Amino acid sequence: MRAVGRWYKELQTLLLLLLLASGVGWMVGLVQEALIAVLLFFVFGYLWQLRRVLQWIDHPESEPPEGSGIWGMMLDQMYAIQRHNRDARSRLQHTVDYLRDSFRSLRDGALLIDQKGAIEWSNGSAERLLGLRYPQDKGQNLLSLVRYPQFASYLLLADYAEPLTFSTNDFPIRHLQVEVSSFGIGDRLILVRDVTQLVQVEQTRQDFVGNVSHELRTPLTVISGYVDTLLSQSDKLPPTFVKPLEQMAQQTQRMETLVRDLLWLSKIEATTTKKRVREQVDLTVLVKEIIDELSAAFPSRRIELNCRVKDARMTGDYRELFSAVNNLVVNALKYSNEDSPVSVTLANHENALELEVCDQGLGIAEEHIPRLTERFYRVDESRSFAGGGTGLGLAIVKHVAASHDAQLKIRSELGKGSCFTLQFKTADTSEFNNA
Ligand code: ADP
Repeated sequence: MRAVGRWYKELQTLLLLLLLASGVGWMVGLVQEALIAVLLFFVFGYLWQLRRVLQWIDHPESEPPEGSGIWGMMLDQMYAIQRHNRDARSRLQHTVDYLRDSFRSLRDGALLIDQKGAIEWSNGSAERLLGLRYPQDKGQNLLSLVRYPQFASYLLLADYAEPLTFSTNDFPIRHLQVEVSSFGIGDRLILVRDVTQLVQVEQTRQDFVGNVSHELRTPLTVISGYVDTLLSQSDKLPPTFVKPLEQMAQQTQRMETLVRDLLWLSKIEATTTKKRVREQVDLTVLVKEIIDELSAAFPSRRIELNCRVKDARMTGDYRELFSAVNNLVVNALKYSNEDSPVSVTLANHENALELEVCDQGLGIAEEHIPRLTERFYRVDESRSFAGGGTGLGLAIVKHVAASHDAQLKIRSELGKGSCFTLQFKTADTSEFNNA
């Protein structure tokens, strides 16, 4: 029966009782009293049922009271809703426990903080990696317990597009990588991983490349010196020796360039943010210097400078920036025809100071573009060997861009030409613009 049908039934019972009471009352001459008695019986009956329901509401964990009629139906419904909610809550709790268990067993540290930075939950690995204790630290501000400056500024800046890798100042030094995901209303899930071993392997690789390159320098200088001396007296040598010696000179020169680039690359890689030179660099001056040098080395080529900014000053390392821009311009010259111009443009674009090097040369097919900045990656071996390239130029550009918090963007069309753009955040220039 539908709930409203019950109400009609209840009304029907009341009317029937009133009718019966008036009949009995008429027989004994007490109609009014009989009607009042029935109404009072009804009202007290309802109040008594109401009291039992309220008692149950006060103790929802107890069994609901028995009831008949409309009260029985209401209690059954309420009990069914209560049971349904209890089941849903226990299912939800089960899911939460399951997720917490899986997070707890993670080797990575995992913790949840609310929008104010207070710890909601953390797992055992977070305890090991960050020294947190759960549940003792629940509700405490994370940054008052974990005092690594880099971690604090990363968390406060709230730009979590890239993970943060930082080294701890305890002994032995550990390298931690942190990834943060925001959800809900400012809540954050923080995953912390110990990457000490990875960093050490990378460090060993860098040291190895640096040391080998360094060791190769002396023998190469000696060989190149002797070859040059022999070639300077080529008129006294048997003619069959001259060509091999010229080739030796050419290859030695190539190896020297390669070793120089490798050493430079490992120096840029090895320079930590703290040790990096931070000086005022005027990109207009830097580009003009490069154009002057390259115009002397490539007298037949036209290199244009388009300066669309009033002030192209920024903070950075002049030598690193010089080598990056120089590599881009040299590439533009190498991979384009003698008669086609190369342009360098300085402009402001969307809160960034842009330096763009464009050529109208060979261009690069789309599939090569994502891999261009890998060491020794060459689109076409014949292209770069003809130009004497080491395959390290764009790797150097990428590292210089990273060390200056800049983005390197590459646009190219096969057969039409390429544009390499370095985008420096404008905040870098403002320091000096305001000075
Ligand atoms: P390389 O010393 O070989 O020039 P780079 O790292 O400077 O090494 O460049 C990697 C590869 O990218 C080059 O071998 C070349 O094929 C391609 N490349 C770089 N710049 C240009 C350009 N401006 N036009 C066409 N191809 C280019």
